[in-house]
Amino acid sequence: MNIINPTTEEVIKTIAEDNVEQITSKYQLLLSGQPFWAEVQLKERIAIISKFKQLLLDNIDTLAETLTSETGKPLWQAKNEVRGAAGRIDFFINNSAKYLAEEVVHREAGLTELIAYEPLGVIANISAWNYPYLVGTNVFIPALIAGNAVLYKPSEFATLTGLKIQEMFYQAGVPENVFQIVLGGGAAGAALLELPLDGYFFTGSYNTGKLIYEKVATKMVPCQLELGGKDPLYVTDDNQNIANVAAAGVEGAFYNNGQSCCSVERIYVHEKVYDEYLDAFLKETANWKVGDPMVEGTFISPLTRKQQLDVLEDQVADALAKGAKLVAGGKRIEGKGYYFEPTVLVDVDHTMKVMQDESFGPIIGIQKVSSDEEAVKLMKDTEYGLASAVYTDSLDRAEKLLKQMDSGSAYWNCCDRVSANLPWSGRRNSGIGATLSHIGIRAFTKPKGYHMRG
Ligand code: NAD
Repeated sequence: MNIINPTTEEVIKTIAEDNVEQITSKYQLLLSGQPFWAEVQLKERIAIISKFKQLLLDNIDTLAETLTSETGKPLWQAKNEVRGAAGRIDFFINNSAKYLAEEVVHREAGLTELIAYEPLGVIANISAWNYPYLVGTNVFIPALIAGNAVLYKPSEFATLTGLKIQEMFYQAGVPENVFQIVLGGGAAGAALLELPLDGYFFTGSYNTGKLIYEKVATKMVPCQLELGGKDPLYVTDDNQNIANVAAAGVEGAFYNNGQSCCSVERIYVHEKVYDEYLDAFLKETANWKVGDPMVEGTFISPLTRKQQLDVLEDQVADALAKGAKLVAGGKRIEGKGYYFEPTVLVDVDHTMKVMQDESFGPIIGIQKVSSDEEAVKLMKDTEYGLASAVYTDSLDRAEKLLKQMDSGSAYWNCCDRVSANLPWSGRRNSGIGATLSHIGIRAFTKPKGYHMRG
C-alpha cells in the first residue's frame, strides 16, 4: 500500500496491508486481553487515557505534519484537529465515571433494581480519513474507557496517523492486547466484517456504511454508522450583519477543503438579502488563499483523494449544462497536487447533482428563495440528515425553522460545528446511532438490569 502525499504526489512510504490471517490473530489477541482490561479500575483506565491526551498535545507539531503529509489539509487545521481531539478527550475523562456508574433506579423493602453498564467486548472501529483524530476519538476513547478492546482500522488515506495513534496508546499504557490497528483499505475493512466482533462502529461514506450495516445485521450486535451529509444553510431576510454571515458560510463550506462530514454543502438565501450576501460571499472566498498546506496562511490546499477531482468536475459540468452560472473557480488547478479551485455556483436548482449529492470538496451552490416555506421545502429535499443551519436575527424564527429539520444537529447562527457535550448523529442516509455526549459514552456498553431481592 503506497502512502501518497496529495500535495507533491510522491510516495511517502510503502506499507504492507494486513492479510486475513494477520487480522484474525490481532482479533484473537484482543479477545484474550479484553476481560482483563474490563477488570482494570475505571479510574486507572481514565488515567491512561489522560496520558494519551497529554502525548497528543506534547507531540502536536509532528502529529500535525504527518497528518498534513498524508491528507493535504493545511497544517494549522491539522493542529486544530489534534487540539480539538484533546478537548473531546477531556469531555470523556470528566464525564465517563458519572455515566458508566451503576444506577440504582428503584429501592423498596427487600428489593433493589439497578442498571449496570457492561462493556460490549471487542469492537471494530472502521474509520475515515478526513478528521482521523476527531472521528477516531469519538469511538476508541469512550470504547476503551468503558472496558472494551478495539480493533481499529484507520482509513488507508490516514495510515501514518493511525500508526501514531497506536504508538501513543501503547506509550500511555494501553496494553497491546487491548488496542490493535488493522492496516489496509476496503479489503482489510471487509475482513473485519467476517469476524465475530461485539460491535461495529463505522465512519465513512453512505455506500460503505450501507454495505456494513447489511453485512453486520445477522450478527445481532450493535452497529453504528456516521455517514455523509448534504448539509443546508439558510440565510433569512432579517440578518443585519450579512458580511459576518457570509464569512461564516464560506468557512463552513471550505474548511478542510470542504471535506468535512458537516460541511455546508448547499446554501439558500432570502431574495431580499441575496445580492448583498453573494457579493460578501465572493469577496470572502477570494481571501481563501490557495497554496502549500505546510505554508502559513494557506486556506485551500489539495484534496486528499485524486478521484474526488473528477466528482467535482462532473458536478460543475452537470450544473452548467442545466443552467447554473459559475461565479468563482470551477476547475482543477493544473500542476502537482490534487488542487481544486474554491468554486461557487449560482442559479442552481435541485435537478443538479451539486444540490443533491455530497460534494466533499471546495464547491458550493447558492440558491435564491422567496420565503421561509420555500427554504424549508428545499432544505428537507435530501436523503441525508446530518446537520442543518439557519442564520437569522430572530430566535423564534430559528426555532420554528430548525424544529422542521429532520437532521441530527441543528445550528442557529453557526455551522460546521461539533460539540462533545451533544450527541453527534445522522438520520436516514447520514447514519444511525450517536457518538459524543453521555449517549456516546453508553453507546459502548450493554445495559444489564439487576433485580435484587433480599
Ligand atoms: P469510505 O466509506 O470510503 O471509507 C471509510 C472506511 O471504510 C475506510 O477505512 C475504508 O478503508 C473502509 N472500507 C471501504 N470499503 C469497505 C468494505 N467493503 N468493508 C469494510 N470497510 C470498508 O469513506 P471515506 O472516504 O474514508 O470518508 C468520507 C466519508 O465519510 C464522507 O461521506 C463523509 O461525509 C463521511 N464522514 C462522516 C462523518 C460523520 O461523523 N457523520 C465524519 C467523517 C466523515
